[in-house]
Amino acid sequence: RAKELGGRRVEVFAAHMHADVVRRLELAADLQRALLAEQFAVEYQPVVDLATSRVTAVEALVRWWSGGAFVPPQQFLGAAEDTGLIVPLGEWILREACREVAAWRASAWDIGLSLNLSSRQITAPRFVETVEAALAESGLPASALTLEVIEEMLVEDAEEVIARLSSLRALGVRLAIDDFGTGYASLALLRQLPVDMIKIDPSFVSGLGCDETLTLLTRTIVRLGHDLGLIVVAEGIERPEQLELLREMGCTRGQGYLVARPMAARGVDSLMRTNCTPLQNTA
Ligand code: C2E
Ligand code: MG
Ligand code: MG
Ligand code: MG
Repeated sequence: RAKELGGRRVEVFAAHMHADVVRRLELAADLQRALLAEQFAVEYQPVVDLATSRVTAVEALVRWWSGGAFVPPQQFLGAAEDTGLIVPLGEWILREACREVAAWRASAWDIGLSLNLSSRQITAPRFVETVEAALAESGLPASALTLEVIEEMLVEDAEEVIARLSSLRALGVRLAIDDFGTGYASLALLRQLPVDMIKIDPSFVSGLGCDETLTLLTRTIVRLGHDLGLIVVAEGIERPEQLELLREMGCTRGQGYLVARPMAARGVDSLMRTNCTPLQNTA
């Protein structure tokens, strides 16, 4: 009887697994087709200086409309990573975003680019060269590019990831820790990586003004970042009181739906005209 039950359980499990495998394979095939058909797009979410409300940078966010329906990045990035498609996709995003931000800078707006990476991209052969080539090709200065990393990237191949990011930083590229405060080793990461910026996770920002502990933690992270000489960006600002508290805490920069939603390049074009700091003409 026990054997019978066990057998059935294996069968149910196998059927379940089968459906899951098929779904993943279908998703992988869809992604491959989408990449070839150039169905991906990049949107840009403005990051503002909280003291002046000026846009200082944009964060590139990948977008996929599959058969007209929007698929959130978190629904396909896992499959893109597992299949290795994140490498050509990530390279396309890198080039596209460098090109567009370089064009905005060429119209004399002082704006930087923030780019999310996955560990598979960083450890891919010639990653450092790929970034160098994208910079050279677009004319974007290395100092205008910030690479965002999360703690989970250092779980595997930590030495390799750190070595590559350090090489890029030596070229002048900036490094940011994304989703700061949510991992187990956020503080340890600050010692392992030569970081320029931390991005406070929305789970802290969401509690500003309504949750005493989260407010206190946010204040502490802002102070910690400043004491370490880092740029501190608050993510997920949705309500005016969050913005007020962050300003009062002296947080340097902010990002969130209240400030601006992610938008297509055309949207940034019009924003630039009204909201950016002109590049200093040093000639
Ligand atoms: P992330 O890097 O932390 O990006 C911020 C996410 O929060 C974005 O979601 C953005 O649309 C969303 N967001 C911004 N402001 C607000 C707000 O006020 N409220 C709320 N509720 N959400 C806000 P998105 O675009 O869905 O991206 C999710 C994650 O997917 C990103 O988190 C990043 O980890 C990853 N991702 C996105 N684009 C790329 C990419 O090009 N390459 C890689 N490797 N990862 C990417
Ligand atoms: Mg990010
Ligand atoms: Mg984040
Ligand atoms: Mg995130």
